[in-house]
Amino acid sequence: MKNLLPILLLALLCLSCQEKEENIQEITVIGGGLMGSTTAWQLSNYGEKVLLIEQQDSVYTFGSSYGEARIARSSNRGNDIWSYLHNRSVKEMKNLVDFLNSNSTNKSAFHISDIYTTSPVTYVGRTTIYDKLYNSLIRQKVDYKMAVNPTEGKALFDASLPDSVLMQVEYNEHSGMINPRKVINYCQKGVLKKGNDIWYNHKVTSLLQKEGYYEIALENTKTGEKQTIKSKKVVSAAGPYTGQLLKNIAPYFEQLINPQRVFLAFLKIKKARFESYTPEQKEKVFISYPVINSSKGTRAGSFFSMIENVDEMGFPLIKIGGHFQRSPIEDLNTIWKQELSTTEIEWSLNSTLGYFDLINVPLTEKDLQLVEGYSCVYSLTKTEVPYVTNIPTESSSQKNPNFVVLGGMSGVGAKGAMTYGLIAANSLLNKEVAAAEYQTVKTALGFERLVEDIALIK
Ligand SMILES: Cc1cc2nc3c(=O)[nH]c(=O)nc-3n(C[C@H](O)[C@H](O)[C@H](O)COP(=O)(O)OP(=O)(O)OC[C@H]3O[C@@H](n4cnc5c(N)ncnc54)[C@H](O)[C@@H]3O)c2cc1C
Repeated sequence: MKNLLPILLLALLCLSCQEKEENIQEITVIGGGLMGSTTAWQLSNYGEKVLLIEQQDSVYTFGSSYGEARIARSSNRGNDIWSYLHNRSVKEMKNLVDFLNSNSTNKSAFHISDIYTTSPVTYVGRTTIYDKLYNSLIRQKVDYKMAVNPTEGKALFDASLPDSVLMQVEYNEHSGMINPRKVINYCQKGVLKKGNDIWYNHKVTSLLQKEGYYEIALENTKTGEKQTIKSKKVVSAAGPYTGQLLKNIAPYFEQLINPQRVFLAFLKIKKARFESYTPEQKEKVFISYPVINSSKGTRAGSFFSMIENVDEMGFPLIKIGGHFQRSPIEDLNTIWKQELSTTEIEWSLNSTLGYFDLINVPLTEKDLQLVEGYSCVYSLTKTEVPYVTNIPTESSSQKNPNFVVLGGMSGVGAKGAMTYGLIAANSLLNKEVAAAEYQTVKTALGFERLVEDIALIK
């Protein structure tokens, strides 16, 4: 018996060593919105061992990715990086759909049409942007029609274009609306199917760098239970919470990323008016959305709008918001519930009425009803181009190979989400893609820019 004691102690010691080893995660992705979910999927697709952590339940109910509709379009007035981000995302999504359908009894349970839900997409702007727009449409091989004066507007789209306003409709396959809820859902299904884990209802309360690993303190948002895990590599995809999450690791993000409130209003055309429309007018309402309308030529006057849903009668619910309708945030945790002001509601109604005038479908203020409205958040960088990059090490301006951030996503995140996830995964795994377009996008989102921006705030 006496001789057994040291053996038992040794065995216990070995067991606890083994447990410690097992407790170290290879890669932890923090945040299960669009960016974290696409990155976790891309890492899983490379065969990596990944843990995805999200403070919300498996049904996403708040955050910048909340909702079922965003605009996805290939063209972008000369800035080709958005075009690449969208086009590559379509390709990546097709791969994911194929994977989800593979080895399954129902070979078409998952479908690309769940993700890209409508086509075409309309852009209305000032004719002063014609040259830039036209050149990018040609360069980016976009299938489109464009009217640049009132006569063409009438002939091509039966629209009443004011002088100096152009209308361009993009017919590319998978340009139109993208459903962020489904993108998140598909990516997370892919992560699980690859055998990786997702911990919902787990909030990261502290993130510290230790010798050779990261220490991540977690709180279960349902039970209050606390635990600490270790991870060799970390991806931060905390959206507007990036500054808070990285306050110990990369405090400069508090200054480099500025979360701002934006709002969304949901409007309904009242029954009497909608029923008075001819079948052609009804169809016109549907195909005239989604739209980005910058025809006023002012930041405050421009809006994006789409039909996110129809009601039980099949009447459209029109969602409208403004890329530049921004306001500061006092408390990130409660902002999602902030209601719309009277001015914001009026802006939403008037912008929608103006658009119906333009597309020649009769609508007056008394025909429109606000049915819902909520606040959402843009994470803004100085240039409004996001960061998807390794961070520098604490002691030098060299790349930290074990830590990648996706942050500063404003109104451009959804359509490129699968590509941002790919770039993040490649950055963490030190994988390169030689293609020139990929390199241009990586540089725009990238490391040297971050180092320069950090130097500017020091
Ligand atoms: C109103 C609006 C309209 C938009 N329109 C378009 C459009 O038309 N086209 C387009 O391409 N893009 C659009 N976008 C942009 C796009 O939706 C965003 O860029 C994208 O959703 C950002 O995703 P994210 O993953 O960075 O952030 P989020 O979705 O906010 O994800 C961050 C996640 O991290 C979790 N998290 C944070 N902190 C912690 C923590 N400590 N522990 C655990 N989890 C944590 C959060 O719960 C959240 O789920 C729009 C955005 C908004 C707000």
